[in-house]
Amino acid sequence: MSSFSSTIAVHGGRSCDPVHGSLVTPIVQSTTYVQDQVGINKGHAYSRVSNPTVTELERRLGAIENAAPAVCFGTGLAAETALFLATLRAGDHVVCGDAIYGGTVRLVRQLLSELGISGTFVDTSDPANVARAITPRTRLVFIETPANPTLKLTDIAAVARITNNAGVLLAVDNTFLTPVLQRPLDLGADITVYSTTKHIEGHSTAIGGSVVSRDEQLVERVRFIRKCTGSIQAAFQAFLTGRGLSTLPLRLERHSQNAQRIAEWLASNPLVSAVNYPGLSTHPQHDLALRQHAKVGERVLHGGILSFEVVGGAQAGARVLNNARLCSLVEHLGSVETLLTHPVSMTHADVPREQRLAVGITDGLIRVSVGIEDADDIIEDLDRAITLAHNEEGAADLEADVCASADGRASCLANV
Ligand SMILES: *Cc1c(COP(=O)(O)O)cnc(C)c1O
Repeated sequence: MSSFSSTIAVHGGRSCDPVHGSLVTPIVQSTTYVQDQVGINKGHAYSRVSNPTVTELERRLGAIENAAPAVCFGTGLAAETALFLATLRAGDHVVCGDAIYGGTVRLVRQLLSELGISGTFVDTSDPANVARAITPRTRLVFIETPANPTLKLTDIAAVARITNNAGVLLAVDNTFLTPVLQRPLDLGADITVYSTTKHIEGHSTAIGGSVVSRDEQLVERVRFIRKCTGSIQAAFQAFLTGRGLSTLPLRLERHSQNAQRIAEWLASNPLVSAVNYPGLSTHPQHDLALRQHAKVGERVLHGGILSFEVVGGAQAGARVLNNARLCSLVEHLGSVETLLTHPVSMTHADVPREQRLAVGITDGLIRVSVGIEDADDIIEDLDRAITLAHNEEGAADLEADVCASADGRASCLANV
């Protein structure tokens, strides 16, 4: 399934700068805009409401999904907040996947709940669980597929049939695969939401988020919430995000090819006890992956994110992370560099252990956001780190490493 073209990523929604003729829309670094007369302007009045650089990114992000111009935000979580405020009010109910992004869980559980909006979390890999969770107060179903970091999938078309029948909106957090590899709006979803911070910007240089829909009224409501809450993206961040967008299909092809090779290599490694990647024939939902993810050329591509566990559990996993050199240990994904995350101590540290284990996030699980380097070099680094983790010298290295880097790492993490 693919209706996406790389040409749209480069040209879709773009316009030449009418003032100077610059090929690339300039970074319009201005808070405000001179009015021609009282009540008459050239389309912009104040940069909390709209900014030409952001507006162009919005047209481009809409164009790649055949949708109305997107609404862009300072962060992915700001986009989700606006989406929730646009679709839910006190007394309403939202059904969420149980393995969605941790920040989304915190937003629903700790903030929306205080506004009188209740949330139910279910395993959406079985769509029947969504149908069962919908109540007369439900206004929105919010899913994320593939799930982070277990790579469990949700059948978007099946969930969309349920939400359409129930008269409930369906939003999909499509950050992992982006519209290049997964097309929720074509599968019946009403809204897609992105942390553009990840693959869309793709170079670890700009935070951002976006909401996309073909329902123009809904988009206008999201835009109104953004104006009320003041959460628009800044012009420079929009410029960097737009630059990333042009190469998104190219990068995702490479991310996916590398991830497929690394997943297959990990699966054949006797020191590795489990590998989660939708492109492996051993993935329990591989058939769904082949239907739901996009084909580029002859192959279906499954994105750059995988997770695995080494023999030896949590301790061995920590040693692998500390011994990697080319791959960086960070709380991030979707960039050109290969990035490793230990969900239990990093992204999912807030989630109670029982709940983590119930959704398959074991203590030793390692998430890899496979970069666009040469696959052989990534494999060599992981091979060395895994081998070291399994001999005593590796254990000694670990002690030294932890002492040497503990301060720096602790202060990095404190800010997330
Ligand atoms: C990072 C992320 C978010 C939050 O985005 P920010 O830009 O960090 O606010 C939401 N959903 C997913 C799937 C993410 O990976």
